[in-house]
Amino acid sequence: MPLSDSTSRLSPIRERDPALDRPPAGPGYEERRVVDVLRQARGCQICGVDRTIWIFALAHGGGMALMLLTETDIRRSVTGALHANGVNTLSDWAVTLVLVAAIAAQCYLFARLYRSDPGWVRIGTLPEGPARQKCEYCGCTPPQRSRHDFHTGQCVAKFDHFCPIIATSVGDCNHFMFWLYCVMETFLVLWALGLALDAIFPCLFGDAVSKAVCWGAKAWQSWLHVLAVMLLVPCLNVFGGLIIAHSYLAATGQTSYEIIKGAKVPYLQEHYRRYAGPRGFPGRPRGVLMLARETLRGNAPPAPYSRGLAENLNRFIYSPKPVSYTQTDGPLNSHV
Ligand SMILES: [Zn+2]
Repeated sequence: MPLSDSTSRLSPIRERDPALDRPPAGPGYEERRVVDVLRQARGCQICGVDRTIWIFALAHGGGMALMLLTETDIRRSVTGALHANGVNTLSDWAVTLVLVAAIAAQCYLFARLYRSDPGWVRIGTLPEGPARQKCEYCGCTPPQRSRHDFHTGQCVAKFDHFCPIIATSVGDCNHFMFWLYCVMETFLVLWALGLALDAIFPCLFGDAVSKAVCWGAKAWQSWLHVLAVMLLVPCLNVFGGLIIAHSYLAATGQTSYEIIKGAKVPYLQEHYRRYAGPRGFPGRPRGVLMLARETLRGNAPPAPYSRGLAENLNRFIYSPKPVSYTQTDGPLNSHV
């Protein structure tokens, strides 16, 4: 079925491959179809490798090279550990091991997320629990709380968002791993930012000799550290913000899609009719600060899938995925 004009405006996939719309044919067809639509959503490749992988590798490899090839504390620790010069060897080894473990963990999380199944709803499978009517775009029968993701042309269980950082959708099955990825990335960014600030501090606020050395023969290193700070501060804002946002969503049993779209989400409409909204702003809270203010006032937007903090976190972290969601109260709007 070709996409409608309105759908085409929403989707970066302007021309859909007609082969993707054929009915399931043979074993493995559905898996191949998902791989094909995801490949389209990920955009261009460079030397046969997706651009997202290049960006991850260059950002992390470049950051590591910058910190290890210029005069920073981590360079001193790594060289101290490798040369075993007898000075602070134990702490040097500890710092080096933490660095290697953190980078390895982040590469592992990225690879797992990049290849993860966020909760694709397969054509021909019926969900457990309440189902919605057939999706008009991909033809599957999605469970409650799923949504058709126009980036990938596929319905996703408990859809949260399509993330360009990992080039895949975030849904019920990989939401916790995405949160872990943000935590580890924030840790690495904070560490690198601390190293860069520590290296550049004497260049800005040191004595005359330190400044002369920094902006003389080692000026190229100092400018690289300045550049690193300018790049790392926005990264810290992004990943720190993601941690706060997704911790809130996990604790309250909500998704980014539900918070951002509010009353436009079909299965939330009945609840929003009963929700007065923030004072002077009918509808949903606009922005993070208003959302925080209304939550503290006890006037949080409706979250009909919340089961209390402990159960929400249990579902987010431990429960087998995808979870069969039902609303705690109010009408069960079962239509797309
Ligand atoms: Zn769909």
